[in-house]
Amino acid sequence: MDVQTNLQTIEQRVEQACQLAGRKKDEVKIIAVTKYVTVERAKEALAAGITHLGENRDDPFLTKYESIKNDATWHFIGTLQTRKVKNIIDQVDYIHSLDRISLAEEINKRANKKIKCLVQVNVSNEATKHGLKKEEVLSFIHKCEPYKMIEIVGLMTMAPLVEDQEIIKHTFAGLKSLQEEIKQLQLPYAPCTELSMGMSNDFEIAILEGATMIRIGTALVG
Ligand SMILES: *Cc1c(COP(=O)(O)O)cnc(C)c1O
Repeated sequence: MDVQTNLQTIEQRVEQACQLAGRKKDEVKIIAVTKYVTVERAKEALAAGITHLGENRDDPFLTKYESIKNDATWHFIGTLQTRKVKNIIDQVDYIHSLDRISLAEEINKRANKKIKCLVQVNVSNEATKHGLKKEEVLSFIHKCEPYKMIEIVGLMTMAPLVEDQEIIKHTFAGLKSLQEEIKQLQLPYAPCTELSMGMSNDFEIAILEGATMIRIGTALVG
């Protein structure tokens, strides 16, 4: 399928989910995750009207960046090794995978502009998943206060790979309540207004539970 057709379908589904949730459709940003596809396909997404692109590894990200540059807003959504920070820091706009102080320290040290970061949370406590446990997030965010180049704009999670919609819903609702709790603290370095959750298979549930950024790969670009 061409990206434009896929995008029309996804936008309709986003709109329906927003309607059901009593939300406006422009409250939800669609990030096209281009990790499986070529630069040409990523450009096709931009031509169709996408403005946010997401990548999860440094080399493929940089390859696409070289060809697209500031025609997109760039989201780094994968696990980020500390030693790789310097490679991507000048190109990236958002980092969705902040999950440890050593990483915050390195981002702060290497950044030449303020970097919008989301704290990755392992809401479902799966052993295989990256991210902080829910109960660790608040103290982690407080520890980020000295890092002036980091702005904690929100939280990110991935739902477990299960069929049971209730489990997925529960995961997203858990992240939402944590985000509200942090937002209400009104920390200047951590406005925490964004909720990055929902992928090809579960983005409607995520929107119903308050997602402001959905990360769509397969269903949009392949
Ligand atoms: C690959 C990936 C996505 C997109 O997944 P799809 O199921 O292809 O939509 C979203 N978020 C993260 C962190 C990913 O690694």
